[in-house]
Amino acid sequence: MEIRVLGCYGGELPGYRFCSFAVDGKLLLDAGAVTSVLRLPEQRRLSYILVTHTHLDHIKDIPFLAANLVDERFHQPVNIISTGQIIESIKSHLFNDALWPDFTVLPTVEFPVLKFISIDPEVDVPLQEFTIRAIPVNHTVRAVGYIIRKGRSAILYTGDTGPTERIWEEANDLEDLKAVMVETSFPNGLRAVAESSGHMTPLMLKRELKKLRRRGVPILLAHMKPQYLGLLKKEVRQIGYPKISFLRQGERYQF
Ligand SMILES: [Zn+2]
Ligand SMILES: [Zn+2]
Repeated sequence: MEIRVLGCYGGELPGYRFCSFAVDGKLLLDAGAVTSVLRLPEQRRLSYILVTHTHLDHIKDIPFLAANLVDERFHQPVNIISTGQIIESIKSHLFNDALWPDFTVLPTVEFPVLKFISIDPEVDVPLQEFTIRAIPVNHTVRAVGYIIRKGRSAILYTGDTGPTERIWEEANDLEDLKAVMVETSFPNGLRAVAESSGHMTPLMLKRELKKLRRRGVPILLAHMKPQYLGLLKKEVRQIGYPKISFLRQGERYQF
């Protein structure tokens, strides 16, 4: 399984893009950085977008992707996948013919460019060669993380979350867990902001990682606020956890 980091930050500045990760070029985890990164032939290859939650930094490029593909993708919709309330919220607040056209009926009702698929949390869902599972996490709006499996490799992506429980329990049951992508947004001095906005600091992460019993699994950090990146690097070093690193934008990881 190849994970290509299209963007991995919790803020947008020149050279720093919002979170979006392409799995084998056909499945996206979140869509904060798609149309400004992928060339058009790469955009055409996308079949699935797993959405962690409705915050704009995680969905903002779905409308622009749909607009790019609407005139040529009559028979293969891009499937937008999440749990029920998240899907309903995207439909009613974004693709509502006010903020953006309803691309589930365009260019035609029979062959739309987008299809929304609601899945149940904590249930394995097969998607071609992948199996995915959504697991609720703890953010300011309803949010899920995902386990993505292909063959004998599984990776876990938390999306945005403050301290949480269920996803770590699930991780502990995964014998073939190859990597954990977890958010760390704010430096330790902004703990109050992190807590009120459903995010984590390095010290909060340290406590979270005690819940993960699978030692030796690489921990890859995401959703850093770019203006604090230098401080975050220093504070993450100080927690002294083995095999922890920051996801790098543009990098491709093999698991
Ligand atoms: Zn969020
Ligand atoms: Zn976010």
